[in-house]
Amino acid sequence: MQERLHLQNHPGINPQPFRSKVVSITEDSIILDQSFCYPKGGGQPGDIGTLTSQGITANFSEVHARELIHHPVNDVSIFEIGQELVCTIDANRRNSLAITHTAQHIVSAMADELWDATTVGNQLGVEESRIDLLFDDKSRFQQQVIQENVNEILGTNTRVSVANWTAEEILSDDRVRNRSFVSRILERLPTHVEHMRVVNIEGIDICPCAGSHVDNLSQLPGIEITRIKQKGAGKIRLYYSM
Ligand SMILES: [Zn+2]
Repeated sequence: MQERLHLQNHPGINPQPFRSKVVSITEDSIILDQSFCYPKGGGQPGDIGTLTSQGITANFSEVHARELIHHPVNDVSIFEIGQELVCTIDANRRNSLAITHTAQHIVSAMADELWDATTVGNQLGVEESRIDLLFDDKSRFQQQVIQENVNEILGTNTRVSVANWTAEEILSDDRVRNRSFVSRILERLPTHVEHMRVVNIEGIDICPCAGSHVDNLSQLPGIEITRIKQKGAGKIRLYYSM
């Protein structure tokens, strides 16, 4: 599997253009020898941006990956294997996703803190993001209360750091929330993955996550919970924007 170089960059904002070489071309995508692009996953959309070589620039759409990181382009015929190019990630979009993603950790942490609600899904967006919360008793949910709790934390001088932990370290640390849910996710990881990146929002939340985050909550504006949807027994889908 190609190394996920975006993981080395924390904070995950202001990604820098990087040089790379075309190693393979599929029907609709360019594969580079190395890429710092975030491939869509874990609820965070993939990066978009441009590939530039010898004065020619092509846009790439949402990056995705399995073994290899794919940069989808409209016309693959303008590229050739061995070609050197500069890849520029759309930094405004990435920054906005890193901000909304970091806020998602706080919303999920507060839902757990207030009502023992587990985050069972999320989809981030530049305009609006959503989080699926699972409750034992969802009648306890109060939109205004969670919004106020989250906004008391956002904007404060709180460090956000990353470190690599083993699954055992993650599952034995009682600061990690919803460990039975986390354990089911960890079970699905390929066996060669020995360490996972853990995001630590000092004194508030510790959570394994491969996405993009800011490095201090002082960089975050408040959230507005724009709407909620009932999603069957025990589940609420909460939408927010920033
Ligand atoms: Zn995250």
